Amino acid sequence: MQFSPKVESITPSSTLAITAKAKELREQGHDVIGLGAGEPDFNTPDYIIEASYQSMREGHTKYTPAAGLPALKQAVAEKLKRDNDLSYRTDEIIVSTGAKHALSSVFQTILQDDDEVIIITPYWVSYPEQVKIAGGKPVFVEGYEQNGFKAEASQIEQAVTDKTKAVIINSPSNPTGMTYSAEELREIGDVCLKYNILIISDEIYEKLLYDGAEHVSIAQLSPELKEQTLLVNGVSKSHSMTGWRIGYTAGNKEIIKKMSNLASHTTSNPAVMAQYGAIAAYEKDDGSVEKMRAAFEERLNKVFDRLNSISGFSCQKPQGAFYLFPNVKQAVDASPYETTDEWVTALLEKAKVAVVPGSGFGAPDNIRLSYATSLDQFEEALNRIEQFTASRG
Ligand code: PLP
Repeated sequence: MQFSPKVESITPSSTLAITAKAKELREQGHDVIGLGAGEPDFNTPDYIIEASYQSMREGHTKYTPAAGLPALKQAVAEKLKRDNDLSYRTDEIIVSTGAKHALSSVFQTILQDDDEVIIITPYWVSYPEQVKIAGGKPVFVEGYEQNGFKAEASQIEQAVTDKTKAVIINSPSNPTGMTYSAEELREIGDVCLKYNILIISDEIYEKLLYDGAEHVSIAQLSPELKEQTLLVNGVSKSHSMTGWRIGYTAGNKEIIKKMSNLASHTTSNPAVMAQYGAIAAYEKDDGSVEKMRAAFEERLNKVFDRLNSISGFSCQKPQGAFYLFPNVKQAVDASPYETTDEWVTALLEKAKVAVVPGSGFGAPDNIRLSYATSLDQFEEALNRIEQFTASRG
């Protein structure tokens, strides 16, 4: 059978193979520690579950407007004002089925065939694939490791062509955990304004920041940058609501309207009970968001030095998210394995630790470990990794 060329152009998720292998080993009775998780390991706070349950009991089980419940858009607008000092009207906000769907709808809406989107490496695995599905072309700009995996404005300017439509900023970043400062964002923003390039600002890890780091949204920096930006966020990581699938985009009213038209023929609306849960998430704060953040910070501080002391590992301390992204080139070079991907497979088969190879993030010398897992498990994983590297695989 012939498939859509757009779908054929997608690279299968690099994490899938390793996840499948980990599952297979577990089923054979092996004690595998998984450090691949992209989601918090806490349950969704009770008050959110209660509010969602209550909404269903009250009969809110039907279609909603395609762009989301007006009350949720209002709650998002208030959140953006409260947390980010940004004023959006509700017709400048659309609720989607998770931030992933929000991003994919953005690309579907703004891209014409062969339009280019600048993506900074290392990047979240779905960006290039989503751009390709929407008919666009990913253009990669290297976030050098020595620059905290961040790209400078001059690098972005060099990548601009007359086809450049947008640039993606992801701060705090998955996989690196790095954040952009206001100054760095302003410089990138100046380039985007100069060439009239849209900015897609993925702020999904906004609430997971450590050691006093502060979140800056590029949209906050000036009214012109706000107009140029499509701000994407959601409740998945902040409120441990990954399975609820609620994300949103705030930005130019015309673009939001087109995204809403698209949603009306695709999803119709995100699940109504999840929308009620998200309203509660934003209208109330029972301290659980901060509690989860503090737990991640504690884990990070407990494991970071040890990870970095593993022979052949070198890791920068992340300022946010819940990932560690060490460069393991020396460890791989000292092993019998040719590539990091092979080394990662051997680590799983021999030491029973599942990590994600950096190749899928555009950084083949690195691996990603998630500390959205218990400290005991993480420490045991470090023991195993240490033994594995000491025995040279
Ligand atoms: N953006 C980044 C950088 C992510 O890491 C993720 C999830 O892993 C998402 C967006 C998608 O979030 P959601 O679960 O709300 O779709």
